[in-house]
Parts: sequence; C-alpha cells; structure tokens
Amino acid sequence: MPKYSALMLAGDGIGPEVMREVKKVIAWFSQNTKVQIEIDEDLVGGASYDKHGTPLHDHTLEKAKNTDFILLGAVGAPKYDELPFEIKPERGLLKLRKELDLFANLRPAQCFDALADYSSLKKEFIAGLDIMIVRELTSGVYFGEPRGITVDEEGNRIGINTQRYTTHEIRRVARAAFELAKKRNNNVCSMEKANVMESGVLWREEVQHVHDEEYPEVQLSHMYADAGAMQLVRAPKQFDVIVTDNLFGDILSDAAAMLTGSLGMLPSASLGSPSKKGIPKALYEPVHGSAPDITGQGKANPSACILSFAMALKYSLDCTTEAAMLETAVQKTLAKGIRTPDLFQGQGKKPVSTSIMGDAIINELNILAC
Ligand code: NAD
Repeated sequence: MPKYSALMLAGDGIGPEVMREVKKVIAWFSQNTKVQIEIDEDLVGGASYDKHGTPLHDHTLEKAKNTDFILLGAVGAPKYDELPFEIKPERGLLKLRKELDLFANLRPAQCFDALADYSSLKKEFIAGLDIMIVRELTSGVYFGEPRGITVDEEGNRIGINTQRYTTHEIRRVARAAFELAKKRNNNVCSMEKANVMESGVLWREEVQHVHDEEYPEVQLSHMYADAGAMQLVRAPKQFDVIVTDNLFGDILSDAAAMLTGSLGMLPSASLGSPSKKGIPKALYEPVHGSAPDITGQGKANPSACILSFAMALKYSLDCTTEAAMLETAVQKTLAKGIRTPDLFQGQGKKPVSTSIMGDAIINELNILAC
C-alpha cells in the first residue's frame, strides 16, 4: 500500500487536545496495519493569526493543495471576536474549502447503540440510525451575487442574497451522493424547494437527469426541504443518503446530527474533485467548534475527531475494513461506559479525560486486532 500524506491543522481551543488523540490512533494504525501515513503539521485559524497575522498562510495553503488529505481540529476563540471579518479564524477554514473547491460536505448522522438514550427522540426511532447528508458546500445563497445591504430611495434598508446554481454544480454533488448510496443502501433523497424557487426546479431536474443517465440502479426520491425537516424528526430511519443545497444542507445536517446526541461524536468530510493520484481533495474535521468553555480542562470528547479520521480511511485511503475497525473501537469503548463528561449520566462511574478516552479507544483497537 502506498504511503499517504496528511496535513494536520489542529487549530484553536480544544482542536489541539482532540488532535493529540488522533495522532495516537494514526500511530497505532502505522504500527499494526498496512496503513502508512506521513504527517505534516501546521497552523490555522487563531493560532495562525497569532504567528503570521493571517488565519491561513500562503505556505499552509500550498501544503494543503499538495497533501493527500487534511485533518482539521477547530478554529475560533472569543479573543478573536473583534478582529475584522477578513482575518477572523473562521476565514482560514472557509478559504481552505474554497481554494480546494471542496464542494461535497458529508455529514453522517449515526446512532451508536450505547448512546441511543442521549437523543431527543425516543430510542425506538433512533436506535440503528445511519443517515448520510451530502450538502453542496461551495455555491448557492452563501456565495451568490448580488449580495449586500443597500438603501432604497425611500431610505428602507434592503438585505440581498442570491440563490444561484449551475448545472455543473448540481450534477457533481448529485454524482457524489449517488456514488455514496451505491456503497450503502442504494437510496438517495434529494431535497429542495421546487414549489417556490426556480433554483429548486433546476436542482430537481438536474439530479433526476444524473440519475436517469448514470445511476438508474439507485433509488431516487425528491422531497421539499421543509417536508424533509419534518420527516427527519418524525421517522429518520426512512433515509439513507440525503443530497441538498448549501443553505438547506446547513440546517438539515445540524438537525439530523442532534438526533444522535453530543456534538463531541460528530465527524464530517468535505470532498472535491479527484487529484492526479485519483483520490479526491479532502478535508476531515469534527462538526464541533473550539469549545472555549472547556478548553485546557481535559474534558473534550476526542471521538468526533477520531471518527473524522475513520472517514479519511474510508474516502481517501479506501481502507473500509480499517475504518470499520476504528468505528467499532469507539462503539465498544462507549458500550463499556467509558465516556468524557459530555456523555456522562451518572452510572456510578466517573467521566474520563480526553487522553484516557483516546487510550481506551486504542485499547479496543488492540483487542480487535488480536
Ligand atoms: P462549539 O462546538 O465550540 O461548542 C458548543 C458546545 O458543545 C460547548 O458547550 C462545548 O463545550 C461543547 N462541545 C463542543 N465540542 C465538544 C467536544 N468535542 N467534547 C465535549 N463537548 C464539546 O460551538 P460554539 O461554542 O458555538 O463556538 C465556539 C467557537 O468555535 C467559536 O469561535 C466558533 O466560531 C467556533 N466554531 C468553529 C467551528 C469549526 O472550526 N469548524 C465550528 C463551529 C464553531
């Protein structure tokens, strides 16, 4: 198996704390399996601003463009809140996504049995849940022009954003969703608002076109995004892969994620077009932010960041067996009641620290490898 390169950008707040545990996991895979990864580390977000005066230095961006995949911790902290918009820590992450054209954001909403009680829904609705939401990430209303705040002749202020999609942008994210469905339960539900938005009509027609031309064997259904939101909380297990635009995806993926419990458990991947090596440009990161309220206290749950690395094993290295092994190790650790404070409900045991949680996951990997 070839040696892969990874750029590790731990970032701010709990980013470096959870990334330390990912490093241990990567070292375990290097010592015990065929997976070989060469890690380079650099700065992003506030950490980069402190050193370089910018949340993403050009040399870091250059490395990001040339690595096989990126692992990112989190960016942001209250001390940067007053910085101008263009140099806020979050701009570093947005620039990475934009420059690498990471157009497909994958957000799994998966319920581990041991955590079914943490959902806001009843256990029977949530146990065994395994949804993948594919959100278009580089276009739509967050990027469309014209945008801004203007004033009309009568002095009324007008806020403007533009929902804009091209055939190319819709088709490439639809393909990403169909490809994923083929490796899962072969079912895609596309969500838009074709009843009230022309861009929604185009979205529906283009997704249907890609389906009919290239993926007739995958089951495709269409749903209005508002109805989709209702169905997600009414009967989430009906879904396999959901594909949707940037705005609806932002909202629906957060809602779906919360069905499964803590922010500390949620991984994500942002994928682009394949590089010369044939693997997609990719950035893997936990869904959570830098959690300033618990930074430096050993309370952060490293699972989301570790599960983000499991996604890298799956989507960048095509190591599905190793990815499943890592997911199982996290699941077994939780099932034994070993949990960080965010997932702790008494049970007569004490919550463990970030580092002990990481060690426990590695312990399970050792058991699985025997
Ligand atoms: P947050 O995700 O950082 O925290 C929300 C709550 O969840 C906090 O109570 C936090 O303690 C808890 N939490 C988050 N991750 C956890 C983990 N791994 N283990 C245990 N508990 C965890 O969101 P926020 O408080 O709204 O934002 C804090 C900072 O993070 C802001 O500067 C924001 O801009 C930034 N942010 C960054 C990203 C990113 O890097 N992708 C995403 C969201 C927010």
